[in-house]
Amino acid sequence: MTPLHIMMVTAEFAPFAKVGGLGDAASALAVELAARGHQVKVVLPLYGHLDRPGLGIRPLKKLPPLSLRVGYGMHDVEFHVLGRGGGRLQVVLIGCDDLYGRPGVYGDAAGEVFSDTVARAALHAQAALLLPRLLGWPVDVIHAHDAHAACALLYRDTWYAGRDVPGSGATVLTIHNLAHQEIHPTAATETLGLPASQAVYPGLLEFHGRINLMKAGVLAADRVNTVSPTYARETVTDAELGCGLQAVLAGRGDAYSGILNGTDYRLWNPARDPALPAGFTAGDLAGKAVCRRALMRELGLDAPEDGKGRLLRPLCGFVGRLVTQKGVDLLAPLLPRLAADGFTFALLGTGEPRLEKQLRKLASDHPQRVAYVDRYDDQLAHRIYAGCDVFLMPSLFEPCGLSQMYALRYGSPPVVRATGGLADTVVPFPEPGATGFMFQQGRDQELLACLRGVEKIWPDAKLWRAIQQRGMAVRFDWSSAAARYEAVYAEALAHRKEG
Ligand code: ADP
Repeated sequence: MTPLHIMMVTAEFAPFAKVGGLGDAASALAVELAARGHQVKVVLPLYGHLDRPGLGIRPLKKLPPLSLRVGYGMHDVEFHVLGRGGGRLQVVLIGCDDLYGRPGVYGDAAGEVFSDTVARAALHAQAALLLPRLLGWPVDVIHAHDAHAACALLYRDTWYAGRDVPGSGATVLTIHNLAHQEIHPTAATETLGLPASQAVYPGLLEFHGRINLMKAGVLAADRVNTVSPTYARETVTDAELGCGLQAVLAGRGDAYSGILNGTDYRLWNPARDPALPAGFTAGDLAGKAVCRRALMRELGLDAPEDGKGRLLRPLCGFVGRLVTQKGVDLLAPLLPRLAADGFTFALLGTGEPRLEKQLRKLASDHPQRVAYVDRYDDQLAHRIYAGCDVFLMPSLFEPCGLSQMYALRYGSPPVVRATGGLADTVVPFPEPGATGFMFQQGRDQELLACLRGVEKIWPDAKLWRAIQQRGMAVRFDWSSAAARYEAVYAEALAHRKEG
């Protein structure tokens, strides 16, 4: 397609401003779009934790310092850029000591969410919308990611309505997780500098006596998408997964779609992964057995093997945030019984204290069969994806999910619940072309039945290898995802509301 000028507004951008999947996705998509010839500007706050000299962050001297109003306060703003620039991808950072000077994207190191979230989002959005005019950028598409950045689309439709810049750009909102909508008391409308009428129907922000930034973005954007086709469907049909926005999303009709995220296969390649004790490929899986033994030794796990170097029961891996979403509540009660039957478990993750405590207890009760590591450890995560036989991802909902994609690539068939991106990326046994295993309802007995099915076919090494090899051959690449985003940009441009 004709190269576009795209401005991405996002609170996260990997690797330096990453909290979850949004950071990876925004970063990978921006890089891919630039590689396809588009001019991409990414705008995010200059967070206090960013290592300015280390990252090559320098002030954008062309622009004089600026003062912007948020609520009743004025805030000094300075723009910075990352790296030397010159390429098609430019990262602009909004410096504002009052609002972004402290470390953290959404909250502090203790997990406490910042109390001035709305002010931070408002300043980010205002500054982003000023940039095209200040720097003489032509902007074809403003692409906002998640609820914070949705604020930019809200302003585009209110403050900037009817103005040529930046209202000339079409707008796209990508929802990475509908569970995080930024819902606040109506008084926050003042912080946003918008009239109280915006908090009352038919105002964009109105949400059952409060305001909702994600909702405003969904209504304001020319096109809206989320990160998998199944999650897009679920969020308009399932009240629980729609998190109160199902009718609003359904109201957007064809303007709302799902585009599956991709994976960076340069970082996730079992043949050349420096974190692994041995490499392997789909054609030669010998190294995977070395990885499995090394992992069990590292974690102190022990279980009997058959005569041919396979375990009698599979080693099950889990890597993820320990939150309700990830289905840990389904898994934990099953562990004692499965451990007694000879299954082993390598579990890595941090999150809700009650879940950490539960896993710690299970590991201490079954030291040879259950290992739990309570930290964030990227290298160990690689060793678990490579060393386990099956990868567990019994999520209650999953907008896209990356872990199952890594598990497939590393020859560890995933055991997933039929939801969101998991349903879109795993072909369940016994379907032809199976790459993993799936259960339907979020109940522990369904997960147990699914694992009993795994147990049944596990002794058939040939069948197992075929499932592994098919999964290892599947690719979810960013270039297909970027092509789908180009189509959404084209639709947004063709159907953009009058700015
Ligand atoms: P989400 O974005 O909901 O957390 P995803 O599956 O999309 O879930 O992505 C999670 C990513 O974070 C994966 O790359 C996974 O390997 C990684 N991850 C999660 N917890 C840990 C941990 N404790 N240590 C290392 N990596 C982790």
